[in-house]
Amino acid sequence: MKSKPKPSVKVLTPLKAIRTKCLDCCCGQKREVQLCPCTDCSLYPYRLGRNPNVGKQMSYDQRMLLVARFKKTPTPLLG
Ligand code: SF4
Repeated sequence: MKSKPKPSVKVLTPLKAIRTKCLDCCCGQKREVQLCPCTDCSLYPYRLGRNPNVGKQMSYDQRMLLVARFKKTPTPLLG
């Protein structure tokens, strides 16, 4: 039985990939990533390997707004 070939590149989650990129940007210095002054960088909110939007407390209105937005999102066409 043939086994599935393993990818030669390590597969990372998007957050881990961003964290790795930020560590690379700061020569591997975790403290420098924490102190990053580039607040206009698009990776800045995710540089610590966490999604700042997860676990966020939302009001009832904010939740209903998100629900409405999800309902408006068109489903991808299959086939
Ligand atoms: S957020 Fe800071 S450390 Fe991360 S890529 Fe951007 S500039 Fe570099």
